[in-house]
Amino acid sequence: MNNQNHAFSTRAIHDGQAPDPRTGAVNVPLYLSSTYQLEGIEKHRGWEYSRVSNPTRDAVEICLASLEGGATGHAFASGMAAIAALVTMLKVGDHVICGDNVYGGTTRLFTQVIPHHGIEFSFVDTSNPENVCRAIRPTTKLVHIETPTNPLMTLTDIRAVANICHEHGIPPGIPLSVDNTFMSPWFQRPIELGADIVMHSTTKFLNGHSDGLGGILVTTRPDLAEQFRFVQKCTGGILSPFESWLVLRGVKTLAVRMRQHDENGRRVAAYLAKHPKVSRVLYPGLATHPQYELAKCQMHGFGSMIAFEVGSRANADKLLQSVRVITNGESLGGVESLISHSATTTHAALPQETRDRIGITEGLVRISVGIEDIADILADLDQALAAI
Ligand SMILES: *Cc1c(COP(=O)(O)O)cnc(C)c1O
Repeated sequence: MNNQNHAFSTRAIHDGQAPDPRTGAVNVPLYLSSTYQLEGIEKHRGWEYSRVSNPTRDAVEICLASLEGGATGHAFASGMAAIAALVTMLKVGDHVICGDNVYGGTTRLFTQVIPHHGIEFSFVDTSNPENVCRAIRPTTKLVHIETPTNPLMTLTDIRAVANICHEHGIPPGIPLSVDNTFMSPWFQRPIELGADIVMHSTTKFLNGHSDGLGGILVTTRPDLAEQFRFVQKCTGGILSPFESWLVLRGVKTLAVRMRQHDENGRRVAAYLAKHPKVSRVLYPGLATHPQYELAKCQMHGFGSMIAFEVGSRANADKLLQSVRVITNGESLGGVESLISHSATTTHAALPQETRDRIGITEGLVRISVGIEDIADILADLDQALAAI
């Protein structure tokens, strides 16, 4: 059912989703059953209890593992639950290297919760792979990066960091995990570049319709797959059947949605780059982006996440209050365009000095360009920027 000979869009629609053998239903049924009939003592048909496995969740795990080119997928109740699962098996004294500009919730978890359990963290600028190399200790058990970063759209060379990880630690090396939420497997496949784990908040582009939370870990390593399966069973933060079904439905159109997101993203970035009230545009698809060359070889498109500078908190506030087609709201990756003020929303948990150091200013605004008609999006930005 998992056919790597098929192209991406075909696998998105079919992998893990063969017609139901009993009824022929073309869509994977929503299995709302917590428990399953056993055929005898220690005899079951593959399912015993839904925390451990559920046929609807199995389908989304198989499909996403296929799209990322991994061996197994492990779905969790949210992106944060997936990241928490990633570090659950670490022990007192273990050390993690994490990018210094990752999703705000990841920083919050890695500074305010997980260290309570005796796990140590180093936050480094992974856009220079040398910084990862320098931070490695004998106790380093995980490297977690995000590329492009949120919201500054800084890239990390996945292949270079993977090589460093695999030269250190116990063979096959320190596992490298990449948060691929901003790109989706349509635009970036970290496993092909050497990563061991791909993590997603499926809440964003994979589900794609802003109507369900979820997270996934995909891996190539059998030892890690076993751990993730064990954590799903032990801690229970798994993706519900209904939300699994929503992700399956969303992923069927991932390829066509991403093409349109990318096309609209490029148009909006080009428009903003010329606007007199915008002093800086952060988008890897602009030739002015310092890592444009890396973006072109590591990614298959540039996506629709753009950050831009409007000079002050007051200007950002005016802009966010003036949009009509675009919605002022957190989150990203849905069919609708969303705009947000990073310093007070997604990155509010960062101390002011960290925000200042990495460049999340009071005038920085992030837009997730949706797939509405581009003329309407541009006209909306035009009138909202005019209000500043
Ligand atoms: C949203 C997001 C997360 C967290 O996912 P949730 O589903 O909200 O828990 C993690 N990483 C990135 C890049 C995100 O955008």
